[in-house]
Amino acid sequence: MLKSWRAMTLWKRVFIGLALGVVIGLGLHYGLGELGKKIAEDWFKPFGQAFVNLIKMLVVPLIATTLVSGVIAMGDPKRLGSLGIRTIGMYMLTTFFAVWLGLAVGTIFQPGAGMGEVVGGATGSVGAVTDKLATAGAAQKGLADYLLAIIPSNPIKALANGDVLSIILFSILVGVGILLAGDKGRPLAEFFDSASEVVMKVTMMIMNLAPYGVLALMAWVMGVNGLGILSAMGKLAIALYLACFLQIIFVYGGLIVRTILRLPLTRFFYGIADALGVAYSTASSNATLPVTISCARHNLGVEKSVAGSVLPMGATINMDGTAIYLGIVALFAAQALGLELTFIDYCMVALMATLTSIGAAGIPSAGLLLAAGVLTQIGVTPEQATLIIAFIFPFDRLLDMMRTATNVTGDIAIACTVAKWEGALDEEVFKTKSVV
Ligand code: ASP
Repeated sequence: MLKSWRAMTLWKRVFIGLALGVVIGLGLHYGLGELGKKIAEDWFKPFGQAFVNLIKMLVVPLIATTLVSGVIAMGDPKRLGSLGIRTIGMYMLTTFFAVWLGLAVGTIFQPGAGMGEVVGGATGSVGAVTDKLATAGAAQKGLADYLLAIIPSNPIKALANGDVLSIILFSILVGVGILLAGDKGRPLAEFFDSASEVVMKVTMMIMNLAPYGVLALMAWVMGVNGLGILSAMGKLAIALYLACFLQIIFVYGGLIVRTILRLPLTRFFYGIADALGVAYSTASSNATLPVTISCARHNLGVEKSVAGSVLPMGATINMDGTAIYLGIVALFAAQALGLELTFIDYCMVALMATLTSIGAAGIPSAGLLLAAGVLTQIGVTPEQATLIIAFIFPFDRLLDMMRTATNVTGDIAIACTVAKWEGALDEEVFKTKSVV
């Protein structure tokens, strides 16, 4: 039994962990009531968080070492320009599809219709949410501040704070510096190469704990919330899950993997299964990053230079699930409050949702806390926005899990595309690597 468990591929173990976690959580919630919730909170949550901390621990060393050695592996700093433009272009394109898909599904499903009264009753959680909103609001800066903040005045501080974009910038510059230094740079080049392999091995070790970590996280979320999560906001949840599925199947699957890459879809999904499981249960693209990079490199054949640069950037700025969600929440609010939206309003929501998804951090709840900015675009007052957010807040985890899984799938699909264009995709690995 134990032997066959160990022999099973990781993604299967992760999904078994996920399913067991849901069953255990629901058992605790419905079987033991208050005691069950307490067990979920006191016993399962700490284990889940320990796993999240373990993978988070790897994020900074992984980005720094993989990126520096990736730039060195490119051999020519000029390649960075085309890589950057292609990456950002693809991120924009998929986000464009995502936003309009979310708006279309939200218009057809009308998740907020008849919710006016229900939302009005959300006063209970308003207090808890206002503080968080104030912090999120303060973090929402103008474009110039945002860009300025990427340049780290103190790289050590950026590393300590885990400022992903600053670390990316600094690592690229160090990589370029090493290339330009020629022979003198060789010892550092070897150091980073070796360091990146070591960090990758540590990632693999920690990933073996993923099935248990995922089980604990799911048992905690389901144990505390039960299925109430779904019934209270059934339509909002269905609309979001549907739009995310459509984005994953048609935009990433149909458009990117089948049409642009011309590669087998099943391989793609098998290849990203570990990352999907971890993204879904942790609700954080940043925490999932080590797994995302490992899947892209080892299961799909994306070269280190591309995986190490495109994916950390994606975890921070490419959030299609979040963009879908912001559009749907805006429509939810308009429908609940009885606001009529014009086509211009739709365009404003699309624009704001895109910008906000770029600015949102890859951490749990980021999308919801930044929704206020999008809502005010369509004439929702700040008080009403707080009410809407407070209403969704207690149930947001299930939505967050789905949008994070979508965000991560998009990052990997684009990493494969850019890798192909840059001649850095090993299609043999993509097609034949046995992950079943
Ligand atoms: N939790 C999401 C992520 O990490 C961001 C969001 O809240 O939408 O990708």
